[in-house]
Amino acid sequence: MDCIFCKIIKKEIPSDIVYEDDSVVAFLDIKPVSRGHVLVVPKEHSSDFLSAPDEVLENLGPKVKKVAAALVKAVNAAGINISTNNGAAAGQVIFHLHFHLIPRFSNDNLPPWPHKDSEAKTRAEIAEAIKKNL
Ligand code: 5GP
Ligand code: ZN
Repeated sequence: MDCIFCKIIKKEIPSDIVYEDDSVVAFLDIKPVSRGHVLVVPKEHSSDFLSAPDEVLENLGPKVKKVAAALVKAVNAAGINISTNNGAAAGQVIFHLHFHLIPRFSNDNLPPWPHKDSEAKTRAEIAEAIKKNL
């Protein structure tokens, strides 16, 4: 499989690894959004969050937390964004599941989410549709 993160996991491509165990690796993003941007990646290949087995996600969560906590201390961050892009429309470029750990600093000038007002009726309709699909 021609997956760049699988190649990083197999050490076929160099990376700045900050954490590794039998099932997870974390390394610095090559094009960081902020200082210390880290990617946390399960070694088992899944293309994205929604297609990953539950066991992979159950194992991953505490390790994302562990690396994020160390990262906040390491770069003296004021906060951290922890997120995963799911699908090309969401900005996903590498189709091997990964969590972004993006340290935040006061006045770092990263753009905020573009929140919009919403109607109660629209929210109720969307909530119903989600509940039907659970
Ligand atoms: P996505 O847009 O898929 O959520 O994020 C992919 C991330 O992988 C990007 O932030 C990008 O900078 C990073 N990336 C892409 N190729 C490499 C690479 O070869 N090495 C490292 N360390 N990061 C990479
Ligand atoms: Zn992969």
